[in-house]
Amino acid sequence: MSENIHITCSFCGRNKQDTEVLIAGANAHICNACIEQAFQIVEQDSKSLSSNKDSNSNQFKLLKPVEIKGHLDDYVIGQDFAKKVMSVAVYNHYKRISQIDITDDDIEIEKSNIIMVGKTGTGKTLLAKSIAKLLNVPFCIADATVLTEAGYVGEDVESILSRLLQAADYDVEKAKIGIVFIDEIDKIARKKDNPSITRDVSGEGVQQAMLKLLEGTVVNVPPQGGRKHPDQKMIALDTKNILFISGGAFDGIDQHIGARLNTRSIGFKTDEENEFDKNNLLEYISPQDLKNFGLIPELIGRMPIVTYLKPLDKKALKLILTEPKNAITKQYIKLFEIDGVKLIFENKAIELIVEKALNFDLGARGLRSICESVMLDAMYDIPSQKSKKELVISSSYVNKKLNKLVLNKLKVA
Ligand code: ADP
Repeated sequence: MSENIHITCSFCGRNKQDTEVLIAGANAHICNACIEQAFQIVEQDSKSLSSNKDSNSNQFKLLKPVEIKGHLDDYVIGQDFAKKVMSVAVYNHYKRISQIDITDDDIEIEKSNIIMVGKTGTGKTLLAKSIAKLLNVPFCIADATVLTEAGYVGEDVESILSRLLQAADYDVEKAKIGIVFIDEIDKIARKKDNPSITRDVSGEGVQQAMLKLLEGTVVNVPPQGGRKHPDQKMIALDTKNILFISGGAFDGIDQHIGARLNTRSIGFKTDEENEFDKNNLLEYISPQDLKNFGLIPELIGRMPIVTYLKPLDKKALKLILTEPKNAITKQYIKLFEIDGVKLIFENKAIELIVEKALNFDLGARGLRSICESVMLDAMYDIPSQKSKKELVISSSYVNKKLNKLVLNKLKVA
């Protein structure tokens, strides 16, 4: 016992009898007071470490165009030209942001907002979303068709930014460098047959309302979206560094492109190189065609990068089903794996699904809905069938499921 009296805390030197607890280590002792102090130090350190991490996560990754395209290749099949254009535009945009504070000359790099033209289901949204994910910036999708001028029934143009703020977890600094995808931009084209006595609330008016937003302005955003109320708390958001990417199918724009090319090529027809590919008129799209389609020149001017996405052919659709990191078939395989079932898609089955999707003319969108119809019964039954260890999706399986679907639809009719 008398030995104990001489035991002291190796950190503060207190005698054992002056402590509440004294813990023994290999060659040392520590008292309760020192443990508490040490705990506080560790906790403070780990807090400052995690806040550093948070501010780092505010920073986007500035990748080179080749790197951006390389990453996009993992998720988006084909569309090489659009990927290239987007990679350069996005690189320039973020380079502009990161250098904005250090440029002291008068050269101001302009914003590179983008317009993508391409049929539905060709990957417009996927491209924009993949870029945001890659750069680690907030991303939101806005539907141009629900937007109206302020004061009319529908959503104010500013509501787009509420969504971006939500995507950024209300971190204004993050939202300021986010990406907004405006879908169906073609649906707010000016309607030529619009009688002049009524205002074009959902068309040209919305285009006008969007101008400031695209160019860069400080907008007071209602955090929860919806209409602005006088007593609502607003968050000020500068749109100067937000990248706007818009997309639309622009049905019928080929005619405008064709007409422009025809008038231009008069007198040059003898030169073989001036012949253009009439089946792929989108390749020749220019801002002029967007104007003829009904977008106002001011809006086109604020989205200076124009690119196109090609309709997806059989080969591309097959790749989409099987190749990308989160390809549809890979997702089903994983879902079944969780239930302990090995799912196998036969090549012929994949080809049949592709054929059906082409018939629907919905691009890759058709693939998903066809697959859902094919897989529904299996996804319903298999989790309850403990003995089932493998399921092979053959072309006859696909046919059976799809025929059943058609028969059911006929019955309802
Ligand atoms: P869009 O915006 O052109 O109408 P989406 O990008 O929304 O089309 O595509 C719909 C779905 O189809 C996406 O979820 C994606 O899985 C798939 N998809 C479309 N195009 C491609 C593509 N080029 N590569 C890979 N998947 C694609």
